[in-house]
Amino acid sequence: MAWRARHYGAVGALAAGMLAWGAHEAWSSRDRALTAPPIVVTQAYDTWADTLTRNEMLADVLERAGVTGREYVAFMKAKQTLNPRRLRPGLVFHVRRVRGTPVADRIGVRTEPDKRIWMKRLGGDSGWREVVEGIPWITERMRTTAVIETNLYDALDRAVPDSFLPSRERVLLAWAIADVYDWEVDFSRDIRPGDNVAVVIERLGSEAGERRFGRILAARVDVAGSPSYAFTFEGHYYDDKGASLRRAFLRAPLQFRRVSSRFGGRYHPVLRRWRAHQGTDYAAAWGTPVRATAAGVVTKAGREGGYGNLIEVRHANGVRTRYGHLSRFAKGLHVGRRVDQGETIGYVGSTGLSTGPHLHYEFLVNGRPTNPQRKDAGAGDPVPRKLKRAFDTWRTQLLAELEPRDQSPPALTASGVAAARD
Ligand SMILES: [Zn+2]
Repeated sequence: MAWRARHYGAVGALAAGMLAWGAHEAWSSRDRALTAPPIVVTQAYDTWADTLTRNEMLADVLERAGVTGREYVAFMKAKQTLNPRRLRPGLVFHVRRVRGTPVADRIGVRTEPDKRIWMKRLGGDSGWREVVEGIPWITERMRTTAVIETNLYDALDRAVPDSFLPSRERVLLAWAIADVYDWEVDFSRDIRPGDNVAVVIERLGSEAGERRFGRILAARVDVAGSPSYAFTFEGHYYDDKGASLRRAFLRAPLQFRRVSSRFGGRYHPVLRRWRAHQGTDYAAAWGTPVRATAAGVVTKAGREGGYGNLIEVRHANGVRTRYGHLSRFAKGLHVGRRVDQGETIGYVGSTGLSTGPHLHYEFLVNGRPTNPQRKDAGAGDPVPRKLKRAFDTWRTQLLAELEPRDQSPPALTASGVAAARD
């Protein structure tokens, strides 16, 4: 299959792949006959792209390609990596058929960013054969910075050009940053206009010019003006002092990606205040999953006055959390049950004294409602002692990339750093 890799390298464009393949085979047979110089002959084949639409199955695509009856059986027998149940709508199949024949002899589909599967008809009674082609992605380390005006999405969306990361990847990057800081920053409440975000990421690029991000290697988020660092190390994120970002309490009972599920949607600040009723209200769509902010034991799960459907969880050190106005409870949730941190315990609703779907969250210390501060999340475990020196070296290196000396103003420097080693 070496020739194919070379060939794709030369062609470079995904859509051209099928055409290129056809051309190659015609070329080979001509070579053997020693008749003519290699010229591109595509007329021998019909090639087309077919998209799997909603409610369609692989069989529908195959039927349009003439792969029915015995051919279908042979096709299904030959497929191994190709999993018909995991094909999602929108997938594009590249089909080739020898002109004048009813059955396709090549069907290709890219099931993963780094994988393309070709099904090849061998002819006669030989059936089909599956060939899996790897698509190489080149990793680069890059830094980007953004200033938050309304929210994290908008900030990244404005700061990062398409040539650096396409729109969908920018959304995923915002989610990923929020995940890294899940114990540290509530991006719907803690951030103020003018706060900065800087990240060093692995940016992956394919030969076809596609772009996506890999890991977040380092980040700095200014939370209400004060910096909070994150450095990946041995599968965890640590701050600049080597304390794990993972804490006893999550910063928010709703996942950021759930609160701001509409891409680029603005967060409405109306409900985000700590109010006289001693809780924090989160506006969120009906049915949004609510998670326990820390491990604990359920002490209430039922109807309770103005709270509507309420869950109360008891945690270590005299802390309790309450989640009100729920539309329903998670399956199997009952008083006395242990819950893990991040576990879905219920769903946003508008039961009790509530004018619209939102979550009422309370954080009680020794029975007293408290506005949870970042310090209340608990202390993170330090980097294991024997790895401390390795971490320090790694952090110093990443910090230099995150905050270069000749720093340009915090608009955007989506310029490449060095090709990744790692
Ligand atoms: Zn409330």
